[in-house]
Amino acid sequence: MNSSLKPFNTFGIQATAAHIVIAESVQQLTEAWAESTQAHQPVLILGEGSNVLFLENFEGTVIINRIKGIEIAETDDAWLLHVGAGENWHHFVEYTLQQGMPGLENLALIPGCAGSSPIQNIGAYGVEIKQVCNYVDCVELSNGQALRLTNAECRFGYRDSIFKHDYQDRFAIVAVGYRLPKAWRPVLSYGDLSKL
Ligand SMILES: Cc1cc2nc3c(=O)[nH]c(=O)nc-3n(C[C@H](O)[C@H](O)[C@H](O)COP(=O)(O)OP(=O)(O)OC[C@H]3O[C@@H](n4cnc5c(N)ncnc54)[C@H](O)[C@@H]3O)c2cc1C
Repeated sequence: MNSSLKPFNTFGIQATAAHIVIAESVQQLTEAWAESTQAHQPVLILGEGSNVLFLENFEGTVIINRIKGIEIAETDDAWLLHVGAGENWHHFVEYTLQQGMPGLENLALIPGCAGSSPIQNIGAYGVEIKQVCNYVDCVELSNGQALRLTNAECRFGYRDSIFKHDYQDRFAIVAVGYRLPKAWRPVLSYGDLSKL
């Protein structure tokens, strides 16, 4: 039975998918991917569907990443945050600010999930994810193997990363590690911010 994708894309396009799976764990995500590929069905992994535009119905399985959880650690000079890929990005930014951990404020209100943030190296007002991304945890979809990429291995560029190239469609992002230096300095150099 076809399921509506309307709640799962921010344009609210009235497309359908053959199946929709809400994955709340890595296991659910990899199992859904394996079942679909074994059935020779196309598979699409989505965060919040803010960077996709459905032009037609999707004749396969859409996996909605809702792997949650925020873990906090600290060193003398930084906050270390391990964030499930399915956490809402803006809520995560708000959470860090409520906890007294500045550094992500310029990236507030960007739509999408934390797990999508490294894919295009999201950026706004003079700050990009590559400045705070410590690592990205992935799973190789064909064999379920876990893999951690360092910041350098992500090959971040302007709205670009390895996840838009070699890793596209082969790996799912399941968590992201961020490092927020405690010695915070607001970034106010961009555009109208510099006039404040
Ligand atoms: C109004 C608006 C404002 C925006 N402003 C900004 C901005 O200021 N700066 C900026 O950088 N971007 C901006 N964007 C773009 C958007 O916010 C980012 O691209 C965001 O990271 C998309 O997140 P998402 O979870 O919605 O991704 P989705 O749309 O769900 O997915 C995008 C792509 O990533 C893949 N994908 C999603 N999750 C995973 C995963 N866990 N593993 C592997 N692949 C995955 C999907 O298959 C798809 O190809 C804006 C978009 C809108 C609509």
